[in-house]
Amino acid sequence: MSQIQLPENIASLNAYSSAKSEKLNGTTWLNANESPYSRRVSLDFEALNRYPDPQPEAVIKAYASYAGLSPEQVLMTRGADEGIELLVRTYCVPGQDKIALFLPTYGMYKVTADTHNVGITALEQSLLQQGSAAEIADAVGNAKLVFICNPNNPTGATVSTDKIAAIAAALKGKALVVVDEAYIEFCEQLTAASLLSDFDNLVVLRTLSKAFALAGLRTGFTLAPPDVLAPIRKVIAPYPVSAVVAQIAQEALTPDAITQMRRQVSILNKAKEKLTEVLGGSEKIAKVMIGEGNFITVQVRQVNDIKQAMQSGLIMRPFTLFGEDNWLRISIGSEQELEQVRRWLTQPQAEQQ
Ligand SMILES: *Cc1c(COP(=O)(O)O)cnc(C)c1O
Repeated sequence: MSQIQLPENIASLNAYSSAKSEKLNGTTWLNANESPYSRRVSLDFEALNRYPDPQPEAVIKAYASYAGLSPEQVLMTRGADEGIELLVRTYCVPGQDKIALFLPTYGMYKVTADTHNVGITALEQSLLQQGSAAEIADAVGNAKLVFICNPNNPTGATVSTDKIAAIAAALKGKALVVVDEAYIEFCEQLTAASLLSDFDNLVVLRTLSKAFALAGLRTGFTLAPPDVLAPIRKVIAPYPVSAVVAQIAQEALTPDAITQMRRQVSILNKAKEKLTEVLGGSEKIAKVMIGEGNFITVQVRQVNDIKQAMQSGLIMRPFTLFGEDNWLRISIGSEQELEQVRRWLTQPQAEQQ
């Protein structure tokens, strides 16, 4: 133990266990919503003695064009996770401000708030789904940032562009509405990116980790009006993007690579439909959540069935949702990987304990 006293919010942190940090023994990895498609990249550098472009121009331009925005509306970050962190660090006063989120949702919003001593207004997904913009704005209260994960991880629930516009309008001058679109490529028409020119309190988070099949690259984008990005540009590290990363990201954003990504998304969406049917007909599964994204979240009848899958090397992501510990998120992997899921589903049920 170090003798140096920790800030209270840090001392009380639980170590974040990501889908990857747990040391699991597996052969089939369907726990982190990664893409099954990987391709070899070759690198060719002459100038790694020099610091990189802080915001690599070619990548920014390519992503802006892909997202239908101007380069001034695009900030490149180390994954969407760094975008979340930068927003909290830039816009929230520690020990005073709060963020709002709709549970169950992606865990990093809470982790980031906790590590920065920023409070949390925990609301329910059902409010986001069923409440009016006025009711939602009311519940958000004085929170500075409102995180809307669309589609939502792990439920797959979506929010219409009209509703996001209404929420942003209701919170104008009070809070930034942050739409996390990590999975938007699986339902492109739902993007809120086109609203960015109409609202000065809207932010969209994107990543190359999911549909673009580059989780290992650590690249994301924060899309926002230039005035919202300006203070973040002062907070971000001076050279956040390695030249190596920039080169690979640039290749991933060529028109050909984007076409290939869309083709893969359509294959994964079809595989998901098929798996949804299989899950719906399985004795082991009590409930299937129908939603968007490269994952399906289900409730199993017996927790032991999850253990059985893990022991056989099939790694999926268990969750406690709505107070019950028998939820499981299954990433849409390759045909071969999903065959392992089908095999598990048809195995005899584990003994009840
Ligand atoms: C995977 C994920 C991210 C993290 O993306 P990175 O770019 O890999 O940091 C952000 N938000 C949601 C909802 C995710 O599921």
